Amino acid sequence: MNKELYGTLIFELSRPGRTGFSLPKKQTEGGVDTSIPAALRREKPLDLPEVDEPTVVRHYTNSSNNNFGVDTGFYPLGSCTMKYNPKINEEIAADSTVARLHPAAPDSTVQGALEIYWTLQRALCEIGGMAEFTLNPFAGAHGELTGLMVIHAYHDSRGDSARTKVIVPDSAHGTNPASAAVCGYKIVEVKSLADGTVDVDDLRSKLDETVAAVMMTNPNTVGIFERSIPEIAEAVHAAGALLYYDGANLNPMLGVARPGDMGFDVMHINLHKTFSTPHGGGGPGAGPVGVRAGLEEFLPNPRVTRLPDGSFETRDTDSALGRISMWLGNYTVLMRALAYIKILGAEGLGMAGKLATLNANYIMHRLKDLYLLPIPGPCKHEFVFDGLIDKSTGVTTLNVAKRLLDFGFHAPTIYFPLLFHESLMIEPTETETPETLDRFIEVMRQIAHEAAEQPQTVIDAPHTTPVSHPDDTEAALHPVVTFDEL
Ligand SMILES: *Cc1c(COP(=O)(O)O)cnc(C)c1O
Repeated sequence: MNKELYGTLIFELSRPGRTGFSLPKKQTEGGVDTSIPAALRREKPLDLPEVDEPTVVRHYTNSSNNNFGVDTGFYPLGSCTMKYNPKINEEIAADSTVARLHPAAPDSTVQGALEIYWTLQRALCEIGGMAEFTLNPFAGAHGELTGLMVIHAYHDSRGDSARTKVIVPDSAHGTNPASAAVCGYKIVEVKSLADGTVDVDDLRSKLDETVAAVMMTNPNTVGIFERSIPEIAEAVHAAGALLYYDGANLNPMLGVARPGDMGFDVMHINLHKTFSTPHGGGGPGAGPVGVRAGLEEFLPNPRVTRLPDGSFETRDTDSALGRISMWLGNYTVLMRALAYIKILGAEGLGMAGKLATLNANYIMHRLKDLYLLPIPGPCKHEFVFDGLIDKSTGVTTLNVAKRLLDFGFHAPTIYFPLLFHESLMIEPTETETPETLDRFIEVMRQIAHEAAEQPQTVIDAPHTTPVSHPDDTEAALHPVVTFDEL
C-alpha cells in the first residue's frame, strides 16, 4: 500500500494498551461484563485499534481534509446544484425533540412532527403549482419512479392498458430513461434542436395512444428554458398522455415560474439539490412527488392530512401504489427543506432563483471568448461549453477539469450531457460571492492561456493532489474498497 497516496490506517496507529477513554472499573469488572451469558461471549477479544484520543481526532480530521466539499471550496458541478447549505438548517434538523422520535409513534403523540410534514407538503404545492405532494421518496430517481407509477396507476384506472411507452428527450438526465424502464415502459427518445431545446415536430410524430407520458426537464439539462411547454402540454394531453416534470433543476425557477402553471401533471423535486440538504456520495436525499388536481388518489401511502379540527394524521388510502418507502421518508432532509423555505420566505426564494441565473450568465459571458459556447445564452442556472475554442492545443475538457483542482476548485461536470464531445457543464448556484466567481473566471482564463502556451502543464494536471490520474474505467468496474487489497 502506498502511504503517500492513501494515508495511514487507524490500525497502523494502534499500540497495545493505549486508550482514549476508560469506563469506570465497576462496570467492566475484570474486563468482562458478567451479565452476558458465557455461551454468547466472544472467545477472543475483538481486533480493534488501540489509540489515544488526540491521535484518533487527528487521524479523522486529516482524513476528512482529503475530501472536497461545498464547505471547503467552490463546487460548480452542473446538473447537481451544489449550493451552500446553511448550518442553521443542520441544527434545526438535529433538534432532538423531532430527530429522536420513533417512526412508529402513534399520530396523537407526534402532532408537531406531522404538522412540519404537512406544512412542507403545502409549501411544495405552492412552489410547484401542484394540488398535492407526497414526501415519501428518498431521491430524485426514486421520485421519478414514484411519479411514473402514479401515471401508470392513472391509465390503469381508466382501463387504458395500451400505453407502454415513455418519451424522453435525448438531453435528459440518465435517471429519466432508467426510471421509466424500471417502471416497465419502453423508452422513445426525442431529438434536441441545435439550440438545445426539444424538437416539437419530432415529439409530435412520436405521440400516439401507446404513449403513457412525456418526461421533460425545464430548464433543460443544458440550462436552456424550454419555450414550447404550453404547446407540448397541449399535444401530449390531446394524445391522452401525461406530462412529467423532472424538477431536479427547479432552483432557477423558484418564485419565478411553476410547473403546474405550465401544464405539467406530475413532478418531482430534489430537496437535496434545491432545498439545501448536503448531498453527494449517494445520499441522504428526498425526491417529493407532486400531482395536479385529479391525480391525488394515486399517490403512495402513507399520506399526511390535516383534519377539520386542525389535528394531523397519517392515513393509508386504497392507493394502487401501496408504499414506496419505509415510514414517511427521509425526515431530517424534510426538516432542512422546510427550515430553508421558512427562513428565505417567498421573496428570498425568488431571489435565490434569479441570482443562480445571474451568476451562471456572468461566468458564461466572461469565458465565451476562450471556451466554445455551442448554445448561445441567455442560460438559466447552468450552461455547457464544448471544451476550449482552440482545438489545436490537444488539451481536453478532462485536462481543464483536472487543472482546476490545482487551484482549489471542484471540477465542473464533464462529458455530460452527451450532446457535445467535450461537454464542460458549469453551475455556480446563487450562494457564491462575486469575488469567488471572479477568481474562478480568472483561473479558467489562465488555464486556457496555459493550454495555448504550455499545454503539458494542463495535460499532466493535477499537480497538487495525492492522486492525479486514476484509471476511471478500472475504478468504476473494479473498485477497491477494502484496505487489505491495496
Ligand atoms: C440529479 C438529477 C436527477 C436524479 O436525482 P437523484 O437524487 O440523484 O436520484 C434527475 N434529474 C436531473 C435533471 C438531475 O439533475
